Amino acid sequence: MTYSPAGKKSTLMTSRRQLATVIDLNKCLACQTCTVACKGLWTKHPGAEHMRFANVTNEPGAGYPRQWRKLGGGYEGAKPRPGRCPSLSDYGGGPRRFNHEQVTRQGAGQRAHLQLLDSDGEPPTWGYNWDEEVGGGAWPNPYYINLPRKCNHCSKPACVDACPKGAIYKRESDGIVLIDQDRCSGHRFCIEACPYKAIYFNPVTQKSEKCIECFPRVDQGIAPACNRQCIGRARHYGYLDDESGDVYKLVEQWRVALPLHPEYGTLPNVFYVPPLSPQAFDPDGKLLDEMRIPMEHLVELFGAEVPRVLTTLQAEIAKQKAGESSELIDLLVGRVWLDRFGGFTGDPAHRPGERDE
Ligand code: SF4
Ligand code: SF4
Repeated sequence: MTYSPAGKKSTLMTSRRQLATVIDLNKCLACQTCTVACKGLWTKHPGAEHMRFANVTNEPGAGYPRQWRKLGGGYEGAKPRPGRCPSLSDYGGGPRRFNHEQVTRQGAGQRAHLQLLDSDGEPPTWGYNWDEEVGGGAWPNPYYINLPRKCNHCSKPACVDACPKGAIYKRESDGIVLIDQDRCSGHRFCIEACPYKAIYFNPVTQKSEKCIECFPRVDQGIAPACNRQCIGRARHYGYLDDESGDVYKLVEQWRVALPLHPEYGTLPNVFYVPPLSPQAFDPDGKLLDEMRIPMEHLVELFGAEVPRVLTTLQAEIAKQKAGESSELIDLLVGRVWLDRFGGFTGDPAHRPGERDE
């Protein structure tokens, strides 16, 4: 690690500035490019097979790890809320393989078909995004929401609070939360304490690992891979206090980007523009003046501010349709791709800091 402070918990938990991500759920395609971009960079080593520091699941659904919301953590008022660790099977188990040997080498090709097998040789009964596009609602109004997640690099990180070794800390310069692997002794209190279950235990090293916000890239002016590689142009990045950046404008100025489960009390720094809904149908197939995605579900995810945000979005869309300009819609559309990264415009394929036009 490039920076490894010791000292009081209050020191480990604070930073001068804060980097943040905004994800527009109206644009996320659930293509998993962010998941793969992260996986390929940071979790290819032994013991990390089950880890997806960046992941995308469907709402409503069990999520990843399975039923993460039911595992506790975070705060209730000022007090830590007790939490539990997911089991390995809650991440979808260990590495999987196909029964190629049986089908292609054992002469069983006419009887057996190719099948995915769990590490125990049995067909899997659970996996990452197992309930993809199952969704909720009833005919004629089914719905689902794509929900990309990663560590929130919280301003009140319960993981830092819970670590008895002082191994987890916020970088003072930008608020990125890191685990010092030399200090971690694998207690897993951090996993119990994180209400988003964004920390993963490595059974090979017997230590905890988490999203590092691509800090070796960030230090060279390159946006994290999940944000930069997003093909939906759903993501914005930068310092929360940079008044010229998209993140500041969407979170602080327009106030249309909200944290996930703010009631967990960790002050997360990944913010979401909640999804506008298609209109609902009545049983005869006529369009109703009602949202198909239940407002209660959105409020459960992003808090009581959702109705105000959706009203703002609809008003700005109406303005644009009427021929007026809207700064908000221009920001969300983001015609110039690199403008959405708050100055972290370096290209990892080029020299550090070089802008890719
Ligand atoms: S999301 Fe979890 S792991 Fe990440 S900083 Fe917050 S409490 Fe810690
Ligand atoms: S890369 Fe972008 S569009 Fe694709 S799943 Fe991730 S956030 Fe959604």
